[in-house]
Amino acid sequence: SFVEANEVRYQACSEVLGGIKDIIINHAGKQYIEKVDQSSRLYSLHLATKETLGQVPLHIVETIGYGCIIILAIVLVISGKEISHILPILGLYGIAAYRMLPAAQNIYRAITQIKFSQNVFKSIRDEFLLNNKKIDYKKNQKIVFENKIQLKNICFSYASRSSNLILDHFNLIISKNKTIGIVGKSGSGKSTLMDIMLGLLQPQRGKVLVDDVELNQNNIQAWYQIVGYVPQSIYLADKSIAENIAFGVEKDQIDFEAVKLVAQQAQIDDFIMQKLPQGYQTKVGERGVMLSGGQKQRIGIARALYKNPQILFMDEATSALDIETEYAINEAIQNLNGKKTIVIIAHRESAVKSCDQVIRLIS
Ligand code: ADP
Ligand code: MG
Repeated sequence: SFVEANEVRYQACSEVLGGIKDIIINHAGKQYIEKVDQSSRLYSLHLATKETLGQVPLHIVETIGYGCIIILAIVLVISGKEISHILPILGLYGIAAYRMLPAAQNIYRAITQIKFSQNVFKSIRDEFLLNNKKIDYKKNQKIVFENKIQLKNICFSYASRSSNLILDHFNLIISKNKTIGIVGKSGSGKSTLMDIMLGLLQPQRGKVLVDDVELNQNNIQAWYQIVGYVPQSIYLADKSIAENIAFGVEKDQIDFEAVKLVAQQAQIDDFIMQKLPQGYQTKVGERGVMLSGGQKQRIGIARALYKNPQILFMDEATSALDIETEYAINEAIQNLNGKKTIVIIAHRESAVKSCDQVIRLIS
């Protein structure tokens, strides 16, 4: 339909723009051009249908209306009425028809418009209804973290593949100000486990407890405030380096000394000061296109540290770095040792060798 065709159009365009390198190398462009071509045709066809359907009745109704007046005239003439009687009657009907037709036409056009837009409206309405409960940051319960984070009998599977149990009665205790490393093959559920600890995913069974208080909808905002998170792939906004490090902070409230400090800890300060023309004010481009994978990761680490979180979660945060940079960052993180609780997911055992505790996930 109209909506589907439009969806295909947009999806194809965003896929092409998102994966332009893969598409050039794999000659996938032609396929996408065909896709956009087909769906655009379908879209235009629907649009044309809509316009035509709105116009056609005008002519039909006009034909019928004026046809009636002509028949009326003929009937009146045949029935032998005087011309001076016929003319006023015809004039009356003629003018009435003349005034009514555009109105009838407008009504009809409006109805087709409504019918046509109904589908679009339906799909948008659901989206809007979804998000009308506003987050009230002040009303939220506080969360106190003095002793430990505890995962209790966690069972988790993704809704799309519910038979594949990723965590099965999983238990873990993380004591405050300890570092804990999580290793395991790719696909063993490390990122999933971290998402559960962060409160981004809800387990089907079991609880996440912070000092014996369960994470729930009422205290989750407070929890987000005390955790720092370095995801596996860092999202960068097309803003300056400083704004990307102090992410979510208004531009005039950024603490530049703190930005520089965390950049030093993340081993990215030298690069920013020496290689970038405007230093911390340099724009990074859409999704950080002007930076390498390792540079993005280090900005992600600096971003997590800027919040000065009590707990730092890192998901393969050093996997795109060379051994020396990884070593330097680990060194900086070791300096936080004993002051922060740190959960590190890593591919390389070298990244977790100085952790107080190491967990191996097997799938
Ligand atoms: P790791 O981080 O250890 O590489 P993940 O936690 O990302 O592993 O993934 C664990 C398993 O869950 C994998 O088999 C993956 O295919 C599956 N998985 C990950 N994300 C989703 C998702 N959103 N929907 C369905 N399955 C998923
Ligand atoms: Mg992962």
